[in-house]
Amino acid sequence: MELLKSGNFQAQKRGVRVVTYDKPFYKKQDMQDLQNIREYIQETFVERGTRTTKKQLLSSKEKEVWTCECGKTNDIGVYCSGCGQDIYGFKQNEMKPADVDNYVGQKIGLISEYVE
Ligand SMILES: [Zn+2]
Repeated sequence: MELLKSGNFQAQKRGVRVVTYDKPFYKKQDMQDLQNIREYIQETFVERGTRTTKKQLLSSKEKEVWTCECGKTNDIGVYCSGCGQDIYGFKQNEMKPADVDNYVGQKIGLISEYVE
């Protein structure tokens, strides 16, 4: 939580990774803690790039694109061709908030089954 609340994006990314580390054992309170962390991650990691539309060559239709913090414009759903980050500011090899959200959700489910 300290890393996530640091306000420093690189430290927050480390925090996202740390959330997936396992503890040797879990107590009931951990479920609430994990749920709080999960909600905090959902609120904290928002799109850092901006979505816009672009006129297409030889077509009247506009295409949705996103513009990265570094200034490059990319297709939706692909990593930036300039700096390799996605719209949330994460690189391909980095743990993504959405993956961690999913993982923590499963972990909470498991703890609730096994912890009295
Ligand atoms: Zn970029």
